[in-house]
Amino acid sequence: MAIQIDTQACIGCGCCGEVCPQGALELEGKAVVFEQYCTACGACIEMCPVGALSLPKQ
Ligand code: SF4
Ligand code: SF4
Repeated sequence: MAIQIDTQACIGCGCCGEVCPQGALELEGKAVVFEQYCTACGACIEMCPVGALSLPKQ
C-alpha cells in the first residue's frame, strides 16, 4: 500500500517530500511517490496544505 496523490489538487510545494522518512516522495512539477519505498506511515498527509494526499481505503 502506498500513499495516493491527487495530482489535480497538488500545487507542487514539496512539503510532503521534506517530511517523508523514506524519501519516497519526489517533486517533478507535482509530487510523485515511489511506491516501493512508501510505508504508508501517513506523515506526509498532515503536511499537505491542499489535502492532496491520502491513504487508500482498506
Ligand atoms: S506515507 Fe509516509 S512513507 Fe509514504 S510517502 Fe508519506 S511520509 Fe513517505
Ligand atoms: S505537500 Fe501536497 S501540494 Fe505539496 S507537493 Fe506534496 S502533495 Fe503536492
